[in-house]
Amino acid sequence: MNITGKTVQLGVIGNPVSHSISPQLHNTMIEKMQLDYTYSAYRVREGEVGKALEGMRALNIRGLNVTIPHKITAHDLCDEVDPFAKKMGACNTLVNTNGVIKGYNTDGPGFVRALAYKGFCVKGKSVAILGAGGAAAGVGMALAKNGAAKIAIVNRTREKAEALARKINRYYPNVAAAAEGFDGADFLINTTSVGMNSNDCPAESLTGLKSDAVVCDIVYCPRETALLKMAKSAGYRTVGGIGMLINQAVIAFELFTGKEVDNETVNYLYRMTELENSIVLTGFMGTGKTTVGKRLCALTGAQFIDTDALIEEKEGMSIPKIFEKHGEKYFRDVESEVIKSLAGYKGAVISTGGGAVIRRDNIDALRACGAKVFCLCADIERVYKNIGDNTSSRPLLNGKTIDEARVLLESRKDAYANCDWAIDVTECEKEQTADKILELYMGRD
Ligand code: NAP
Repeated sequence: MNITGKTVQLGVIGNPVSHSISPQLHNTMIEKMQLDYTYSAYRVREGEVGKALEGMRALNIRGLNVTIPHKITAHDLCDEVDPFAKKMGACNTLVNTNGVIKGYNTDGPGFVRALAYKGFCVKGKSVAILGAGGAAAGVGMALAKNGAAKIAIVNRTREKAEALARKINRYYPNVAAAAEGFDGADFLINTTSVGMNSNDCPAESLTGLKSDAVVCDIVYCPRETALLKMAKSAGYRTVGGIGMLINQAVIAFELFTGKEVDNETVNYLYRMTELENSIVLTGFMGTGKTTVGKRLCALTGAQFIDTDALIEEKEGMSIPKIFEKHGEKYFRDVESEVIKSLAGYKGAVISTGGGAVIRRDNIDALRACGAKVFCLCADIERVYKNIGDNTSSRPLLNGKTIDEARVLLESRKDAYANCDWAIDVTECEKEQTADKILELYMGRD
């Protein structure tokens, strides 16, 4: 990325905002489409959205996405509002043209595009929506706008379902919207937060849906929610929540830049946010495998697996205790067993202990199933800086001088060189390391 005085600024405001994957999505579109833009995340506290909009004008920031909790305030404060966003009373996209800020809402349209991407169309169809919160309103209104014939809202709090059905009817009187069950529906869409980072399922059964119905979840973490698993095993076609997240960004990007995002770029975003094969992180203690691994999981929705945690669970004791009680060879044998049991995992981020690659078999077993192995490398001074005085939980460093630790690190150099990629993290922030790994995994370098 070559930022110059002419580079156009884009970004996202929210609180919190550091977990947002919008910067990755937008910067990838910028790079793929070779545009002179850059996209950053800005934390804006409650009560400061007005100041952020002033800043947008003063700094000539071209576009901002708006995330929780500012979508309604942004709608109220921008200069002009697109008619669809006005119906929603909330904006997730702001476009600045010569100091005039116009608000849009791309969440619901993003869902409709995600359906289209998978080959589905709601025109004339009967849809059941689980939930009646902000996302349900966006999805419901967009479905009504795109010609759904009937929309049933099913929600824990029935009054909210009734209020949303009334709202849809007010703007789209041709759509039969009501707060009722999902019998005979062509589409079932979960818009509740049930299933987010859990195995909870928002529906007890799918009885009543048409036999060729499509079951959708806008929850995207995990990528395959309990609802989608249940639907798949009952033979229904499914659409996961990542598509809505990608396509709301794509529509916003088109509004910012005035350029259509090509199919190849959209396909790339889908692949980027769903790992086909596992990413294995290895490297010496204190190189940030856990932090980088968790960031990669936030970007890709992958499951995070820490082999040291699995070893401790299996043995029922901490790693220092295993070393103390049984010695290093025993530990390495258990480690090999655990690593080999993970070989068949697809699309996970697997963090291994620093010594796991000493046994080449371990890595070969993972690689044979398509995993890509990344070694995080740092000099011993950086390692000690990262782990501080906390060497007691690391049996191979405990009581050692830094020079002895350096010898241990050197002794592993050949094993680390066997990995697919070596990433020098000595001067690198953890976020940058995760981005770099994803780029290499995707074959961008
Ligand atoms: P919201 O406004 O807070 O609404 C939450 C909805 O979930 C309400 O209908 C609520 O029912 C229901 N709910 C919560 N806990 C429940 C439970 N234990 N049992 C039954 N129903 C429950 O939230 P939102 O903004 O609509 O977001 C909802 C979900 O959509 C979140 O997980 C969010 O991450 C996801 N989302 C995804 C995308 C995407 O791009 N894929 C975009 C936006 C949102 P009550 O009315 O009874 O409280």
